[in-house]
Amino acid sequence: MSIAELPSLTVPASHKLDGLPVVVIGAGPVGLAAAAQLLERGVETLVLEAGESAGASVLTWGHTRLFSPWQYLVDEAAGRLLDKSGWQAPAAKELPYGRELVEEYLQPLAATPELASRIRYGSTVTDVSRSGMDRTRSTGRSSTPFLLRVRRGGAVVEQLARAVIDTSGTYGTPNGLTASGLTPTDLDSVRQNISHALPDVLGADRARFAGKNTLVVGAGHSAANTLLKLAALARQDHGTTVSWAIRGTSPVRVFGSANDELEARGHLGSSARDLVRQGRVSLIDSFEIHDLHPAAGGRVLVEGLRRGEPVSIETDQVVNATGFRPNLDMLREIRLSLDEIVEAPRALAPLIDPNLHSCGTVDPHGVAELAHPEPNFFIAGMKSYGRAPTFLLLTGYEQVRSIADELAGNPGAARRVQLVLPETGVCSTASVGESGSACCNETSTSG
Ligand SMILES: Cc1cc2nc3c(=O)[nH]c(=O)nc-3n(C[C@H](O)[C@H](O)[C@H](O)COP(=O)(O)OP(=O)(O)OC[C@H]3O[C@@H](n4cnc5c(N)ncnc54)[C@H](O)[C@@H]3O)c2cc1C
Repeated sequence: MSIAELPSLTVPASHKLDGLPVVVIGAGPVGLAAAAQLLERGVETLVLEAGESAGASVLTWGHTRLFSPWQYLVDEAAGRLLDKSGWQAPAAKELPYGRELVEEYLQPLAATPELASRIRYGSTVTDVSRSGMDRTRSTGRSSTPFLLRVRRGGAVVEQLARAVIDTSGTYGTPNGLTASGLTPTDLDSVRQNISHALPDVLGADRARFAGKNTLVVGAGHSAANTLLKLAALARQDHGTTVSWAIRGTSPVRVFGSANDELEARGHLGSSARDLVRQGRVSLIDSFEIHDLHPAAGGRVLVEGLRRGEPVSIETDQVVNATGFRPNLDMLREIRLSLDEIVEAPRALAPLIDPNLHSCGTVDPHGVAELAHPEPNFFIAGMKSYGRAPTFLLLTGYEQVRSIADELAGNPGAARRVQLVLPETGVCSTASVGESGSACCNETSTSG
């Protein structure tokens, strides 16, 4: 491996940030929106994307239909860039598959003349720091360029930046399967029995599930989605059976509400509830997984506790739909202020912590809530939610609009944040009730 030397590493201190771009990590929907927002304000930007195309993470679940219609999926600045290139906007009320979101929006956006030359594919950011300054050095920190290490092909290159927006998502770092949040003790021996959330059950991954028993673990929309697909497979292939393990006593949050303003999200929950009621999915509630071990015939034994009693479940496949966590390893040298529970920026966390807040809506927020002790460093998009599961793209688009105004030298606009999200219709939990402050207040603007 070689380290590319950049001349700008040696520029005089007073001009160290001159001419450097704002580096955006990840060309997902929020990363590309960040780039579009910055360019609209005349701020030079460079997007580093690990995959070979825009929307690489979305493509991995491309066979899954989104529950938001197109009207909630296109960032405004990105839409303006696309309009200039003669783009035909998809029908506002239609629900795209993940693949369509990429092919009909993200890839055309990434191909616009303004963005195409500013995205580097096959470029995985492995570390972010300040040039010549580890986390402990303070003097002159804010005027010192960021230094990013980037794995590209077989080489490691370094890139300087005046600011960094980390929109690398969380899809590549799922939570551990066990109740303690860890991976199975002997992961290698059961790896072939574990699927990532949202396998393509009716398509490419069909052979893995047809005629088999599958245990879906988790209590979110990904779990519900996979249960529906597995139930559809069971209708076609009668040897297929489906179990669903959740840690809580009831999947009521997954079942959702008939009042969900996103009709498809509500339908997903009610369909999962029907599968359980009809006995087509066996629900195993209050199950805390302790470990997984190989069993005879290539099967796997899932061991745990149920209501205090030891329980073992033998199955063919386990789908890990326990959610995602942010990859913080690459930010080891950056001064972060993260909430201890959800690993979201500290001021944002109370607005989204699932222990306190069940709606899926969130108060408008932007640069003020996303700031860290590290000047000009931001985490936005799905990754800004840390372990909280309720992120919506509209939230991310307003986050990066606000950050772009800040970086363009307009702090007033950056702090006038506006956001109106569709309500889930399920907005009460014991803990929310205790505080008396319901999570679904009507606020839609602030600042
Ligand atoms: C199945 C599913 C359905 C969803 N449906 C909806 C919906 O209907 N409506 C809605 O509003 N939201 C929905 N979401 C939630 C959310 O909007 C999406 O997850 C969205 O893709 C998040 O966008 P993002 O840009 O923050 O992250 P991502 O889309 O995950 O993009 C991150 C990008 O960063 C790249 N990357 C990762 N690590 C690195 C690195 N180290 N260096 C460089 N690049 C890197 C990845 O390859 C990827 O391209 C859904 C999520 C899932 C999983």
